[in-house]
Amino acid sequence: MSPLDPFLGRTRIAYLSMEIALDPAIHTYSGGLGILAGDTVRSCADLELPVVFLTLASREGYLRQEIGPEGQQIDHPDPWELETHTTPLDAAVAVRIKGRPVWIRPWLYLHACPHGGCVPVILLDTRLEVNAPEDRGITDQLYGDGAALRLKQEAVLGIGGERMLRALGFEIETYHLNEGHAALLPLSLLRRHRLPADRPDRRLYSYDTDPVRGRCVFTTHTPVEAGHDRFPYDLVTCTLGDFFELDQLRLLAGEEALNMTRLALNLSGRVNGVAARHAETTRRMFPGYRVRAITNGVHVPTWAHPAFARLFQTVAPDWAHDPDTLLQADKLPAEAVWAAHAEAKAALIEEAGRRCGVMLQPDLPILAFARRMTGYKRPDLLFSDPEKLRAIAARYPFQIVLAGKAHPKDEQGKTLIRALHDHAHALRSVVPVAFLPGYDMALAKVMVAGADVWLNTPVPPMEASGTSGMKAALNGVPNLSVLDGWWAEGCEEGVTGWAIGQDGSPPGEHALDLYEKLETRILPLWHDDRTRWIWMMKQVIARIGSRFHSQRMMRRYATEAYLR
Ligand SMILES: *Cc1c(COP(=O)(O)O)cnc(C)c1O
Repeated sequence: MSPLDPFLGRTRIAYLSMEIALDPAIHTYSGGLGILAGDTVRSCADLELPVVFLTLASREGYLRQEIGPEGQQIDHPDPWELETHTTPLDAAVAVRIKGRPVWIRPWLYLHACPHGGCVPVILLDTRLEVNAPEDRGITDQLYGDGAALRLKQEAVLGIGGERMLRALGFEIETYHLNEGHAALLPLSLLRRHRLPADRPDRRLYSYDTDPVRGRCVFTTHTPVEAGHDRFPYDLVTCTLGDFFELDQLRLLAGEEALNMTRLALNLSGRVNGVAARHAETTRRMFPGYRVRAITNGVHVPTWAHPAFARLFQTVAPDWAHDPDTLLQADKLPAEAVWAAHAEAKAALIEEAGRRCGVMLQPDLPILAFARRMTGYKRPDLLFSDPEKLRAIAARYPFQIVLAGKAHPKDEQGKTLIRALHDHAHALRSVVPVAFLPGYDMALAKVMVAGADVWLNTPVPPMEASGTSGMKAALNGVPNLSVLDGWWAEGCEEGVTGWAIGQDGSPPGEHALDLYEKLETRILPLWHDDRTRWIWMMKQVIARIGSRFHSQRMMRRYATEAYLR
């Protein structure tokens, strides 16, 4: 009897993702993409959808962040114990990489939800004695360094993943590619659909893409050109040999280089952006493709602070399974909402003290900013005029909490962290600033619930969706954000939060608008009109929490993308 037996007969959909955030102790994720995949796992279990998940073992994790005394990020591996969290399955498949067979073994993680729904997650591992020493580490480091390794990892995920599902006995009808990393999977399928040489409709392609397109769903996440994986064709040939004819691959994946997004677009019958705004941007970047939108959501029971979970129970008993019912949150008693917030805030204050020794006050508002530290997210926008910040704080005192990792190769991101550190030091007598190292799922939970205002300052249209603001919202924390990603849909000025700038206003004007909103709207409201502030908190939960959740997202994927 195999632990997969309960799933083999019923599973129809396979979801592939380079990263999945299953649990804080399982370091198979780096940020938003993995968190989304994890929330997808959790909602599929809740809804009992017939889905199996596939990712890499990532034994070395992504990055453990240490912040040195000068604010320099020090990178460490972040290993985790595959053996203690998952069980090995009895199967093996090989993918030919650089002329050698690379053997892959599967490990099983089962995610069960409290209602009894359960979904399997398969982790692919190449750390095996049979493999050549240089191939054993292919699946070790999430987003391993350099294009050569990345392509090998994507071959293991896409080509190996498809083979593994068959070896384990799954009969998959639909494959969902979470981002372009798994785009070699539809290419594997396509190899089985070569057209006979005398077919009259055989013009450009030697293959019939229709049956493959009928089985593949692609969600794209990256509105930044540099965010799309591109591999030079000489690297592709040297890595994958004659896996696919080069002239055909160029037609499907781009003339100059193998663009994984283009490959996925050409071989998926259903293509999705992660917010309405992002689908528009993707249509502009890749004209000629039908790109639809299913806006992302977050798994409410995972991200609701226990104090809020208790409150939700009183007005919407089925909230965890059916978060639409959080619409009832506007009926919550104001004192109870404020008390729950105080509890969540105390936990954040304690965490800040523990992680970086900064003592924050419970009776002053906390502005929080936590995301990947990289240029377009502008983590330093809030500090662009320190004098202005001091002047505002003199009238309406406030505090700042920051967190986020820079990718090890992102020097600009690392410089930004040092700059934040310097600002914190310079402001410390007027505005306490805490930079909490090691932003991960566990720290995110504490931050999204304990903040008073959740800040987001990307340069539009670079934020595909963003999800941390949704997590904050379901804990009653209003967003203050540039109108981009999901916030273009969720913002109701003065009700669910505030917009920084107008829709389409130049990014150069955002800092001024940010200061103006803080000084004239947000901080006065917090300090002088607590009744109205708590009214807003309730609106935030009712209007955002009931809508931007992963149950809704997966119900839509199930009906619109999987059931075609
Ligand atoms: C939710 C989350 C993210 C994604 O949030 P963004 O709003 O896209 O920045 C990233 N990292 C962690 C640890 C998270 O919990």
